[in-house]
Amino acid sequence: MTNSQLTPGVVAGRLGAGDYARNFADIAPRFDAHEAHVAADRCYFCHDAPCMAACPTTIDIPLFIRQIATGTPEAAARTIWEQNILGGMCARVCPTEQLCEEACVREAAEGKPVEIGRLQRYATDSLMERGVHPFTRAAPTGRRIAVVGAGPAGLAAAHRLAMKGHDVVIHDARPKAGGLNEYGIASYKAPGGFAQAEVDWLMKIGGITVVNGKALGQGLTLDGLRAAHDAVVLAIGLRGVNALRAEGEGLGNVVDAIEFIAELRQAGDKSTLAVGRDVVVIGGGMTAVDAAVQSKLLGAENVTIIYRRGQAQMSASADEQEHAASAGVRIIHNAAPVRAIGNGKVEEVEFAYTESGPEGLRLTGETFRLKADQVMKAIGQTLIGAPEGLRVEGGKIAVTGAGRTSVPGVWAAGDCAAGGDDLTVTAVAEGRDAAEDIHASLMG
Ligand SMILES: Cc1cc2nc3c(=O)[nH]c(=O)nc-3n(C[C@H](O)[C@H](O)[C@H](O)COP(=O)(O)OP(=O)(O)OC[C@H]3O[C@@H](n4cnc5c(N)ncnc54)[C@H](O)[C@@H]3O)c2cc1C
Ligand code: SF4
Repeated sequence: MTNSQLTPGVVAGRLGAGDYARNFADIAPRFDAHEAHVAADRCYFCHDAPCMAACPTTIDIPLFIRQIATGTPEAAARTIWEQNILGGMCARVCPTEQLCEEACVREAAEGKPVEIGRLQRYATDSLMERGVHPFTRAAPTGRRIAVVGAGPAGLAAAHRLAMKGHDVVIHDARPKAGGLNEYGIASYKAPGGFAQAEVDWLMKIGGITVVNGKALGQGLTLDGLRAAHDAVVLAIGLRGVNALRAEGEGLGNVVDAIEFIAELRQAGDKSTLAVGRDVVVIGGGMTAVDAAVQSKLLGAENVTIIYRRGQAQMSASADEQEHAASAGVRIIHNAAPVRAIGNGKVEEVEFAYTESGPEGLRLTGETFRLKADQVMKAIGQTLIGAPEGLRVEGGKIAVTGAGRTSVPGVWAAGDCAAGGDDLTVTAVAEGRDAAEDIHASLMG
């Protein structure tokens, strides 16, 4: 018997083969040359461009758009990569509506910004598809640098260091490089194996060795890395997951959203992925939205996000919330889980409404239940595996300047480092800046 959206429990194959292909197709396909020219022609090429100031990697946006407008997308790609070597992925995943496009003068004037993200993708894809890597390494310096973590921060640091002539080894706990580009970002934002293609393209700079399946804390030590290298960059992201601390959390089919997403990203055939009929996602950020939307796309009948505070406090942007709603996901605000109920496997979740008072958030005592055959926890990631001896503040590795930690010769960048805003583009900026600082301190 085949399954459908109405099949109870957590099962695979709720949809037809064509539905999966449609649902997980590229959400914002690449511009063709004509579309790119029309979009580029809307740019005023502003002096002191506000879009550029709003980009965490400070890409020269008016310059690259002018290069597209004058028919040289290859030059545009180089302009982008000079500042952001993962410009291809960032073109797909950046919340541009909160960054460059929000700042665009045409957004202020007409409510319709220049489509900077899609133009960036047009430029970078044009050159990447031809297999061209436009940078070459400087003469070897004889310096060796270890990077721990092959996510956006680690890759950006490694590329910049390799370009300066240093030899770089990246150690990563996972079987593949890419970090959350490979294991986290929603499937429809970067389909077609783009994350691995971008890693392969980045490696063409030379001088970078990636060692997968090697974790700091499991055979690798910070002291060992420091002794064998001239500098160390920690770019280990946030691998831990917060617990619900609600009764029944250990029941079957109560899962971490991040693991569900990682499995989904690695599945060649989406019809093999099991999903509930009634899915409840607990959280208010990007992970909650991505888990909920992708559950719906896998064929769950009812998907509800429950967030303990109000809509304005959700860390998922207004656009992401709208995207969830348009995918058919219901969002309930101001409610927190009290207990998961079931016999071995979850069947229902009881929630209590919340209200904010002078002592913070409190449960009102008024409760309701939601039917749930699968519950996904998306209440934030935490730093785990930071080596002892490093100063930690606010749950992240404390840094000063361009990622200097409290231990000499050790830098930190990306989500694991204090101060960032947990976006791919910020991780790239921090990795790049740490690399520049290391280079200056080694060669100065
Ligand atoms: C579900 C989800 C969706 C997201 N969607 C978006 C989005 O659409 N747009 C956006 O801008 N941002 C998004 N983000 C945030 C973005 O993915 C992160 O900010 C970014 O990946 C951080 O990069 P990083 O290099 O610091 O860490 P990561 O990408 O987490 O990479 C860290 C790497 O370190 C490795 N590692 C960890 N511990 C060890 C250890 N002890 N030893 C060796 N290796 C280790 C890991 O295996 C991993 O490869 C999303 C995040 C999540 C969770
Ligand atoms: S703010 Fe808008 S119009 Fe001005 S340079 Fe940037 S993209 Fe072009």
